[in-house]
Formats: sequence, C-alpha cells, structure tokens
Amino acid sequence: MHVGTHFFAGWMVGVAPDLGPRERALIALAGVAPDLDGLGLVVETVTADSPHPLPWYSLYHHVLGHNLGFALLVTLASFVLARRRAARTATLAFASFHLHLLFDLAGSRGTDGEQWPIPYLLPFSQGLQLTWSGQWTLGAWQNTLLTSVLLVATVWAAWRFGRSPLALVSARADEAVVRALRGRFGYP
Ligand SMILES: [Zn+2]
Repeated sequence: MHVGTHFFAGWMVGVAPDLGPRERALIALAGVAPDLDGLGLVVETVTADSPHPLPWYSLYHHVLGHNLGFALLVTLASFVLARRRAARTATLAFASFHLHLLFDLAGSRGTDGEQWPIPYLLPFSQGLQLTWSGQWTLGAWQNTLLTSVLLVATVWAAWRFGRSPLALVSARADEAVVRALRGRFGYP
C-alpha cells in the first residue's frame, strides 16, 4: 500500500490518546517505517542498465522491514525516544507498525500479480511467508477508498481532538488548521 495511506493510518492510531506531539509523531512514523526497505528502489533503478545491477528493491522490499524483528526495533526506538508515557507510546507504535503489515497483506498486490509475501518471523525464522488470497492490487479502488476514509478521519480528528499531522512540520500551521475547522464547524 502507498506510504501516504500508511502514514494517515499511523497518525490515527496515536491521535486520540493523551500524548505529546513527539510521541504522536513516533507512532505515525512507526506506521511508515516498514517501507524503509523500499528505498533500494533508488539503487535498483539507477543500476538497472549497468554491468552490475543491484536489484535491492526486488530483493529486500517487504523483507528487511516487514517483519517482527524490525517491529521490535521500531518499538524499542519509540520507547527510548518518547519523552513521556513511553510504554504507551511504544505499544501504540507496535500496533501502528502491524497495521501497516495488515494493510500490505490486504492491498499491495503488484499489477504483475506479485504478492510480496511477508516473512513475518524474520530474523528469527524464515518459516512463515504471509500472503492473503483475497489481496487486491496497489491501484485498486479499495485502496483509494481506504485512503479517502483515512483523510476524512484525519480532518475529523483535527476538529475533534485539536491536532493534525501538520504538527510534525509546524505547530503554527497545525493550530491554524484546527482553528479554521472549529471556526467553520463549531467547537466539539
Ligand atoms: Zn509496506
């Protein structure tokens, strides 16, 4: 599934609890973190026509980052980087990470039919390769619908809880959006 969809899903996981902006950012980023293993796409594309192609995307996407070992690493990082309510932040980061895996299982089939199986137990075991037979493709309407629902939910949560993902880049922009929403729709 697309990074934007994962981001808004991760944001929604942490939007309601009483946490700080830093902790909410950690939870949202945990929802995107598995796709760090997709950065090999740059290398693969650049070296595709070279004498020594490096197919890092084909080899490592949905492998290096989409597993329990990396989930534990991301959870630990969230625990360490959180300034308050570290245990709750780490728990929600763990949930956010797994929501990403669930979404990928549901809707990340390639147009070529490639299912990108998730080797969930890595690096502890190669034994489990998760796929779902009902998986839809990356460009399917289900993904568009899911992304739209998450966007609406994000706007609703900004109105309801007084915080939006803009807080990750600018507290002032975040406040302005919340003020505008509440000016338009009233106070919750
Ligand atoms: Zn993914």
